[in-house]
Amino acid sequence: MKFGGTSVESADAIERVARIVTSRLKRSPVVVVSAMARVTDQLVAMGNIAAGGDCDAAIKLLQSLRERHFQTAIELLGTKRGATLAPKLEKHFSELENFLRGLAAVRELTPRGTDYLLSFGELISSIMVADAFAVRGLNAAWVDSRQCLITDATHTRAVPQMEQTRERCKKKIVPLVSKKRVAVMGGFIAATAAGVPTTLGRGGSDYSAAIIGAALDADCIEIWTDVEGMMTTDPRLCPDARTIKRISFNEAAELAYFGAKVLHPATLLPAIHQNIPVYVLNSRNLKSTGTQITAQAPPSQDVFRAITAKNGISIVNVVASRGVMVHGFLRSVFEALDRHSSPVDIVAISEVSMSFTMETKRLAKALLSELEQIADVACEDRQAIICLVGEDIHGKPGIAASVFNIIANAGVNIRMISQGASEINISFVVQESDVPKAVRHLHAHFFPAKSNVVLAQKKNGVVGRRPNGTGTRAVRSRSAAAGAAASLELRASRGYERTRD
Ligand code: ADP
Ligand code: ASP
Ligand code: MG
Repeated sequence: MKFGGTSVESADAIERVARIVTSRLKRSPVVVVSAMARVTDQLVAMGNIAAGGDCDAAIKLLQSLRERHFQTAIELLGTKRGATLAPKLEKHFSELENFLRGLAAVRELTPRGTDYLLSFGELISSIMVADAFAVRGLNAAWVDSRQCLITDATHTRAVPQMEQTRERCKKKIVPLVSKKRVAVMGGFIAATAAGVPTTLGRGGSDYSAAIIGAALDADCIEIWTDVEGMMTTDPRLCPDARTIKRISFNEAAELAYFGAKVLHPATLLPAIHQNIPVYVLNSRNLKSTGTQITAQAPPSQDVFRAITAKNGISIVNVVASRGVMVHGFLRSVFEALDRHSSPVDIVAISEVSMSFTMETKRLAKALLSELEQIADVACEDRQAIICLVGEDIHGKPGIAASVFNIIANAGVNIRMISQGASEINISFVVQESDVPKAVRHLHAHFFPAKSNVVLAQKKNGVVGRRPNGTGTRAVRSRSAAAGAAASLELRASRGYERTRD
């Protein structure tokens, strides 16, 4: 069971988490928590301020973080028990303070330092939550995630090492579970085999829960958040968004990759490998049924399962310079992308030019300089990818036409289009500022108010009436899940880093 930042943002929220976990005790839960809401952003801010040389300002921010946690601890535990927790928390706050002073002295925050810095958010919240559970009669035990979740040393977006993680979990968590204790651990944070702290990329607590779930062969993985499951689009963009009752691994992975912040993009990878169902649930609603994500899902009455948008994208246009050998041009561009481990999303090519999109923060200056040796290069920032996902769009004529008509009627200009690379999505690039308008128009058309997302549900089943009449939907075979796993694996090998909005 993973609880995100808003689910542990206050004493009241943690109280609700304790009640939810209590209601699941028979199922031997293991609990993964994020840092309290906004804490990771504040740690990033204080690290940057300290590395910029303003130690006092950084320490001031730290002080307000300290007060927030102590205040929450007292509300949760009362003054007496709160006083016993205080030294445990203070140990970490004073380590953090020393680190900020060190940063101000050396004026440099490295990726390795960033991981160390960010680890405090989850360390502190998980220690506090474990104590809060204990006071509420849960037989809780705090577990240090850095001793369980083992990764490589790709700091800020480390890649889990499943075999070692599995062994560690067997040693550190399984004995607790067999004594009916509730292990409580921080998400997002991990360590190399040598014990150097790492993180899984922003939003990575979801991924932690899935990794731990897979390592323990869990029956299910529950992601508890601040909305009623995975929705037809981001409810912040479009208030009419509704909950998707069931969705396949394949579709959910695509949505997560293309910006549905509710799941870290790699979350489903461990679940797919072991075919563990994943639930996305609302921690503000104890009776939440949320979204069930499984290898296969019944067909939906709607054309698409959901719409998502990923901001912070750059379009890079690369046009071969005069005199460059045409036949080697594309190879040189791809080799340069490979050398810089640059993950591209959408690509359009002709013999002498190539346009691709990439997250702006992953676009290395060194890559651009290298491309400039062989081509004229122009970049456009503040772009976004809008992606419509649905397994049922495959082979249906006219869908792309209606998507692009709607966008044209909304007065939005499309910069690039991709359909076909994945048989389950249509994606295109627009300016970031056009995203709300485009998504609302698409949502209003493809998700009219009263349709039910799921028409038919049958246990283990795939049977359902298709929108156009009769017939049984072809079973999406395990090869669909295998395909999803392979494409996720590829993306994971390039390292995931969440785009925050
Ligand atoms: P947590 O702190 O629990 O990890 P996040 O803020 O990371 O929560 O993710 C939950 C948020 O994701 C929601 O508040 C919602 O605004 C956003 N979101 C984006 N796309 C979707 C979607 N398709 N379905 C549900 N939520 C979405
Ligand atoms: N606290 C981390 C973040 O804000 C991880 C998470 O919330 O999942 O990115
Ligand atoms: Mg999250």
